[in-house]
Amino acid sequence: MSGGTKKYCPKCGEVHEVKVISPDWSVKTGWPEKTQRNFYLKRGDNKVQYFKRNMKCPETYHEWYSAEINYNDLLDLCNSKKKLTDEAVELNKTIESQQKEIGALKTTESILRDSMRSQEGILIIYEDEIEGFEDSIKAFKNSQIDLTLEYEQKSDELRELKNALQVIMKHVETEEV
Ligand SMILES: [Zn+2]
Repeated sequence: MSGGTKKYCPKCGEVHEVKVISPDWSVKTGWPEKTQRNFYLKRGDNKVQYFKRNMKCPETYHEWYSAEINYNDLLDLCNSKKKLTDEAVELNKTIESQQKEIGALKTTESILRDSMRSQEGILIIYEDEIEGFEDSIKAFKNSQIDLTLEYEQKSDELRELKNALQVIMKHVETEEV
């Protein structure tokens, strides 16, 4: 049996009285294929039975397969598709926000690296200053040693002067007597 049923043609987007025919390839190759057969799709425990037919549009001569399935199975398939689409949207959002976080982390990292580099510069300057301070401290210590030696020398001289003074005073006292 063929023709008569009004169907939507995916090519011209209109409803025509389409014909149910043997598929083009079946005619060309001579391999027989029934115009309509029962099939089922099996995915794990899920089984969808459908009635497959090869349709032909009388206007555009476009051929396509249609599959008539149980309405509840169609609803299940639509619900599954919606659920998967929603999950994909959520996943995309998560990925986008993670990409933003990664971008922010990279910015922070480059700021940290910059400040580390500038602190290295500061450290080098400080090392120079510290070296300068150490030289000054060494110079102070040296002059302190010089001063100590000079002080000891002066103390000796003073002691000698005091001794000499004592001798002179004794002499003077002796003369007065
Ligand atoms: Zn058409």
